[in-house]
Amino acid sequence: MPGFFSCGLRSPNHSRRIGQNGQMSQAPFRFEHPFLDLPVDPVTSSHTRQVTGALSSQVLPTPVAAPRLLAQAFEVAALLGFEDSLVHSDEFLQAFAGNRLWPQMQALASNYGGHQFGHWAGQLGDGRAIHLGALVGSDGRHFELQLKGAGPTPYSRGSDGRAVLRSSLREFLCSEAMAHLGIPTTRALCLIGTGEPVIRDMLYDGHPEAEPGAIVCRVASSFLRFGHFELPARRGDVVLLQQLVDAAITREFQHVLTLPEAERIPAWFTEVAERTAEMVAHWMRVGFVHGVMNTDNMSILGLTIDYGPYGWLEEVDPSWTPNTTDAMGRRYCYGRQPEIAHWNLYCLAQALAQLMDDPEPLQAGLRRYAEVFTARHREFSLGKLGLPSAENRDDWLSELFGLLRASAIDFTRFFRSLGELDIDRAGTDEGYWIGFLTPNSYEPDTVPATWSGWQPWLQRYALLRRAEDPEVVRSRLVRHNPKFVFRNYLAQQAIDAAAAGDLSVLERLHEVLRRPYDDQPDAEAFAAMRPDWARRKPGCSMLSCSS
Ligand code: AMP
Ligand code: MG
Repeated sequence: MPGFFSCGLRSPNHSRRIGQNGQMSQAPFRFEHPFLDLPVDPVTSSHTRQVTGALSSQVLPTPVAAPRLLAQAFEVAALLGFEDSLVHSDEFLQAFAGNRLWPQMQALASNYGGHQFGHWAGQLGDGRAIHLGALVGSDGRHFELQLKGAGPTPYSRGSDGRAVLRSSLREFLCSEAMAHLGIPTTRALCLIGTGEPVIRDMLYDGHPEAEPGAIVCRVASSFLRFGHFELPARRGDVVLLQQLVDAAITREFQHVLTLPEAERIPAWFTEVAERTAEMVAHWMRVGFVHGVMNTDNMSILGLTIDYGPYGWLEEVDPSWTPNTTDAMGRRYCYGRQPEIAHWNLYCLAQALAQLMDDPEPLQAGLRRYAEVFTARHREFSLGKLGLPSAENRDDWLSELFGLLRASAIDFTRFFRSLGELDIDRAGTDEGYWIGFLTPNSYEPDTVPATWSGWQPWLQRYALLRRAEDPEVVRSRLVRHNPKFVFRNYLAQQAIDAAAAGDLSVLERLHEVLRRPYDDQPDAEAFAAMRPDWARRKPGCSMLSCSS
């Protein structure tokens, strides 16, 4: 069938490519434009408005004064078939700064809604993201390219459509760090400084300041969010909703098309639920806190998307959130992420129910979420201790979290250190255990008092570990416990240096985060606990949605 997302080359120039010295050469980059096969907004100006009956609006990026390539991910360039010489060419810089698109690109912003902090927020849409099209790789896979921070769109709701260097750098490096951790995520091709200031009131306290602007080019098979489906459903536009569902399935979940028609939506939804469960289980494994799990920030591919006020658990505390905007309700704190993902899936199910005579089968998808999450979370939690999957260790695992919390132990460093633990001494030698734990505590004075709680826990751990081959334990520990995560204070160091024109911290961090599970003895500094200066510093411990 000529699918809604079928190849839509709009330009006769699709065989142009940029070669060695920046000139256009022969080999083709093939672009598809899936959104152009769905209803498109007939209005082409970028003024803020409600867009009904359409899933996207055509809008060009706004040119910037003095673009500069600040960083690039060669792995992502390779996925796209971009040679290094191309990435360093002026044509590349101008295109990915939004100044001069390649002829085969078609710029548009997509239309979605969402539940924000538990409440329906109406139309949101790509307020500062502009799609350029989906590049088709030599193996047939497609990769959508999107500029974030490239200027206003009809969905900007009065904002400027821009992004500041600090938030763009955070998105660029964190999405790449997540990919190297093996966690489903959107990717980032490059980070480009715009040479233009952006005004932001970072802490929303009446102190707006000019900050350097930057644009990230994000890459994913699709950027479709739960909110893309919720908006037409909320508006009662079932025709548009059906078109979008058909398009999403045809393009991203083709195997579902082999099922009888009535089974497709529940089967597809179940798969979205499974992927979401998998993603959140990984977040819990590495201590990642997304910070703004609104339904417009949930990908139907189960990718981590929209890196805003995220953070990495430092002292173990399930109620911790990096997002100051959420400090009161703590809706999106570390410990609630699994429950919130389920709630978000429920919102998606409600939207899809509009297309079904009997929505009951969607319940199976929600149940599947719980099953997959529980199984993966157990597997990962035990894996972090070097142990195989098992049922019924949940109480023992929550006891561990209670003990770690009691003396503010650093999540990443504690689990990583288990490779060096002498399991024969741990549960019997108080001095040894306290000495083992203390260097990773943010409140070392509290550690000795926890011994009586640790002792029975450790004795059971010793029994379980002794039953395993030590080599297998070692490999499980390394596989589940990264040494390097993108702690907020590290991000801040890279941001401060980059803002002063020094890109070396960003480059070095990017290098280290490419191999997060390797020891990398020359990079110990990047595995250090959060220093005291970062404890209350904005950007390190306090992040807002202002970006
Ligand atoms: P977020 O909290 O980043 O997921 O953004 C929520 C909504 O606000 C999305 O529709 C964004 O596109 C939009 N948005 C955020 N920042 C800006 C901005 N500076 N200009 C225009 N739209 C924005
Ligand atoms: Mg968002």
